[in-house]
Amino acid sequence: MIKAFADLHIHIGQSLDGKAVKITAARSLTLPNILHASREVKGLSMIGVIDAHSRGVRQDFRTLLRDGQLKPLEGGGYQFGNLTVIPGIEQELSVGEGNAHFLAYFPTLEHLERYISEIKPQVKNWQLSSQKAHVLVEEWLGAVALGEGIWLPAHAFTPHKGIYGNCCKSLLDVLPGLPPALEIGLSADRQMARSLSELEQVTLFSNSDAHSLPKIAREYNLLELTENSFSGLSQLVYDKKGQVVANYGLPPKVGKYHRTYCLVCEKVVEGEPPLLSCPRCGSRKVVTGVMDRLTSIADRKLVLAPDPRYIYQVPLQDLPGIGPKMYSRLLEAFGTEMTVIHQASEKELVKVAGKKVAQWILSSRAGTLTFQAGGGGIYGRVVDILS
Ligand SMILES: [Zn+2]
Ligand SMILES: [Zn+2]
Repeated sequence: MIKAFADLHIHIGQSLDGKAVKITAARSLTLPNILHASREVKGLSMIGVIDAHSRGVRQDFRTLLRDGQLKPLEGGGYQFGNLTVIPGIEQELSVGEGNAHFLAYFPTLEHLERYISEIKPQVKNWQLSSQKAHVLVEEWLGAVALGEGIWLPAHAFTPHKGIYGNCCKSLLDVLPGLPPALEIGLSADRQMARSLSELEQVTLFSNSDAHSLPKIAREYNLLELTENSFSGLSQLVYDKKGQVVANYGLPPKVGKYHRTYCLVCEKVVEGEPPLLSCPRCGSRKVVTGVMDRLTSIADRKLVLAPDPRYIYQVPLQDLPGIGPKMYSRLLEAFGTEMTVIHQASEKELVKVAGKKVAQWILSSRAGTLTFQAGGGGIYGRVVDILS
């Protein structure tokens, strides 16, 4: 078994032919930039490049393959030095009471293209990210299987296109069976997901859903795999050979849908969850928070005690005192963000960044920061250090 740091949900802003892919993502989020940032700045060993379905992105993959920068791996996926790159897609499907996003990953571009030939006729703007496919879930799963792909529900608990967030209370009501894996999303953690007993046997991933280069690896997974390739990932997901050793993720309060948000008061609600209407003005015009939704559908008591398999991390640039200048100074000194966040010693940090910044980083590591909860699409933020 080998260990791999994996972020399996990174979007593409535009392909190198200048065409937009994910409209809401940064234009600098191109395939070559993602490869470099993931390997050099973030220190990842596996990434899922979502939006590989787009024609320009596939072209970019093929250019890098022709140049020898990317090499096909025997077990599927592509090798960029010591980084494994898995091509994938995010697709919206109508399920149960609403619409939800799903992720799928494929061993090669050719496998992905088998999926494309099935699904593309049912999608309007194929070149763009996360488009709706007008097919039944069963047909969609058939297309993924045709490409020998891996699939899972994306950001499962969010009110915006999350399957639990706006489609169902139980996956078994809307899917033909339990998914092999599920993405927790930024506003929840492993403990919160465990309040649904049906997820007991489901592999839980934390991914960044990055829409810009700095956001890559704001969430990721430490995986134990038979090999660092598509096949290794597939064996983990389908055959339970290997495991998610740990999820690294934002404290759920920092996520932008953690608590319910009142659209009338334009404020995040406060008070015991679940709050499905505004306690201030009584309005039902709200964006339901992940914590509130989960509390209302859970069939087990929500345990908020720390889980050693979920390690919280606040992105460096979300900490007070770390602007662009300080950020580059830290990277220069320690190499990757992961080293700064999880490994650098107090003495080293103080030397490079000064006492104050070192204290924010160390408090984040120790879990002693306090937060203002996010909601309604607005991220939560770091407020203070617990004294
Ligand atoms: Zn999505
Ligand atoms: Zn209100």
